[in-house]
Formats: sequence, C-alpha cells, structure tokens
Amino acid sequence: MSTVLETEEHQALRAAVAALGKRYGRDYMTTVIRDGSHTHELWAEAAKLGYLGVNLPEEYGGGGGGMAELSIVLEELGAAGSPLLMMIVSPAICGTVIARFGTDEQKQRWLPGLADGTLTMAFGITEPDAGSNSHRITTTARRDGTGPDAGWVLTGRKVFVSGVDIADATLIVGRTEDARSGKLKPCLFIVPRDAEGFGRNRIDMELHAPEKQFELVLDDVRLPADALVGDEDAGLLQLFAGLNPERIMTAAFGIGMGRFALGRAVEYARTRQVWKAPIGAHQAIAHPLATAHIDLELSRLMMQKAARLYDDGDDIGAGEAANMAKYAAGEACVKAVDQAVHTLGGNGLTREYGLASLITASRVARIAPVSREMILNYVSHQSLGLPKSY
Ligand SMILES: Cc1cc2nc3c(=O)[nH]c(=O)nc-3n(C[C@H](O)[C@H](O)[C@H](O)COP(=O)(O)OP(=O)(O)OC[C@H]3O[C@@H](n4cnc5c(N)ncnc54)[C@H](O)[C@@H]3O)c2cc1C
Repeated sequence: MSTVLETEEHQALRAAVAALGKRYGRDYMTTVIRDGSHTHELWAEAAKLGYLGVNLPEEYGGGGGGMAELSIVLEELGAAGSPLLMMIVSPAICGTVIARFGTDEQKQRWLPGLADGTLTMAFGITEPDAGSNSHRITTTARRDGTGPDAGWVLTGRKVFVSGVDIADATLIVGRTEDARSGKLKPCLFIVPRDAEGFGRNRIDMELHAPEKQFELVLDDVRLPADALVGDEDAGLLQLFAGLNPERIMTAAFGIGMGRFALGRAVEYARTRQVWKAPIGAHQAIAHPLATAHIDLELSRLMMQKAARLYDDGDDIGAGEAANMAKYAAGEACVKAVDQAVHTLGGNGLTREYGLASLITASRVARIAPVSREMILNYVSHQSLGLPKSY
C-alpha cells in the first residue's frame, strides 16, 4: 500500500479500523442486510472508538482531524466488507457544514451526538425534476412571519435520500422564495425526522445494502428560525464545503469496496486449479486483477490529494481534486468488482461467495453523488476550458 501521503498516525488508524472491520466484516453485513436490519452495533462501536467523529472539532467531542482521517475509516471498513454509507452524509457532510457554519447552539445540539454516534443526520439535495442539475431544485423556504425570530416553511420533494428512517434529522437543501429564479442560492435546513408535514416513502432499490433510500415530501413543514444552518445569502461556497467531503468520502467508499472484491478474487485465483496451475497464473486472469489494483491505488492518491487540499482550507482546489478522486474511484470500483465476479466463474454468481451483489452496490460509486458524466463535464469546462453543450 502507498504510504507516501500518510503519517504514522494515519497508518495506525488504518490498522486499528481494519481490525474493527475484521470483527464485523462481510458476514456481519450480509446478516444485517438479510434481516432488513441496520448496522447499529458497528456504528456504535466505530463511534465509541472515535472513528465516526474523527473529523469533527475536539471541543465538541470529535477527534480534531479532517477528511484525510475520516476517509481512511470508511475505506478500511469497506475493504473489510462492511462499509458504512451513512458516514458519507452524517459526519462528513452534515458534521462539516454544522462545524463550519453552524451557530454555537447548533454545534452544541448536534456535533457531540454525531461524533459519539448517538445522533445521525441524513442529507437531501436530489430532486425528481432536477437530478444532476441542482440549479433546478425547487424546494422552497419562505419566512413564517416577520422579525428576527420568524421561522421557516419548507415545501418541496426530494428523491433517493439515504437513511432518513434511522436519521434523527435530515439536512435539506432548499432555496428561499426570493431566490427562485436565476442562479442557485442554496440554503440548508435541519428538518427533524418527525416534523409535521415531513413524509417519506421508501424507494424499492435493487441494492444489497443496509441503508435504504427514500422519496421525501415536504408539505409546508414549519421550522424554527434556527433550523437554517449558516447564512441565507452565503450561496454555493457554503454548500460546497459539504459537497467536497461527500465526493472524497464516496471515493473512499468505492476504493474500500473495490479492495474487498479484489481481495476475494485474488484469494480465489491463488488456489482454484482446473489445469496445471492455479487460474491466477493465467495472465488473462492476473493482468485485469493487476490493473484493478493499480487503478484503486491511483484513485487513493487522488483522494489523499483532495483530502489534503480540503483539510488545508483550499475549498476551490479541493473541488477539482475531489471530483477527480470520486470519478477515478467510482470507475476503479466498478471494474474491480466486475473482474472479481468474473474471476470466480460460476462461483462469482453464488450467494456463498457474495460478490455478485456488489455489482449493483459498486454502481452507486459511479452514479452518486455526482455522476461520471457530470464530472467529465466539470473537468471539460472547469479544468480544460471547453465550451458547454447544456
Ligand atoms: C444508492 C443511492 C444513494 C443516494 N443517496 C442520496 C442521498 O443520501 N441524498 C441525496 O440527495 N441524493 C442521493 N442519491 C441521489 C444521487 O446523488 C443521484 O442519483 C445522482 O445525483 C444522479 O441524479 P439522477 O439520478 O436524477 O440522474 P439524472 O440527473 O437524471 O441523470 C441520468 C443520466 O444522465 C446523465 N446526464 C445528466 N445530465 C447530463 C449532461 N449534462 N451531460 C451528460 N450526461 C448527463 C447522468 O450522468 C446519468 O447517467 C443517491 C443515489 C443512489 C443511487
């Protein structure tokens, strides 16, 4: 494993999380999924060991680290076969946004719980009629009365929002009424799970994962004034402070899953013998596994670069690197899983070996939170200066 961008503390963290992952691992995850349950035990233990809040400020019970550390945690749990998707949203997006832009009261209310695992927060930006085009989101917040204490009324719909059933609240991206036309001026609101008018319908996904996705209906949801996180006029920069961690963490999710699948395939290829030598001796099997390994390692390098830039406070520089890392890791994950399944022949499709179910799971890293094509668009326009077609 490349350690060029990692300190001794990072390597120790990797080893410690890997040890926790081993105690839970794929069998644990498979049982949780089969029972339609949740990863509560793993979540609680990871939190107790300080892993979930490793990026949050120390004064609020966190570890005082950043995305470099949090991405290590998710990658290693994934490499053990038990990735925690909600880490992408709860500590990474919501924790970061509240830590950076929340009021003292909001920080006190949420950060210690997000760090010790007793509180979880989901994140909702995607809308049915906006999809990849967040500028089109129509979830609208209007003031509920006048004066500084006036609350908010939220109306709109969201789709594919993960974990709303287990989250204590969802951080909803909306826009204020006077900002409905023109460029997106996003505002972030904390909506408690049981708020009146906040409905959810589970989406039937073909995904082998414990986290469920939901359509959300916000039907005149009344919220207090302090439901708004940050400045109503801060706009995109504030949102990107949360979206860059989301991309870095999705890269970690993809790299972890890719490593898990590759590990299973290598183990199988070393021992499965149908001719004179194990199948791993055939270059047609070995080389694609070798390229999968290279692609995962390269993705990690870009993820580490993105995490470093982000943790150093360079939001703009981190934007390009985080997108590239998410792209590279998503592609590396999809290819590693595909090759792993193929390496096992018929066994690649059996329940016993548990790899086929990763085919759909790995596609999440290509589609969400921003699709492969939208990252290629971003790089075409922002990095290369090419004109836009849309
Ligand atoms: C398992 C899972 C969990 C998720 N969790 C969350 C969550 O917790 N919170 C949340 O808010 N969202 C979540 N999402 C939503 C996810 O972020 C969106 O699915 C993603 O942003 C793509 O949006 P869309 O599905 O509407 O696709 P669309 O925007 O409809 O795109 C469909 C296809 O068209 C392509 N496309 C669109 N525009 C262009 C263009 N200009 N040029 C080229 N190609 C284009 C896309 O790349 C894609 O392949 C989740 C999704 C999944 C699958």
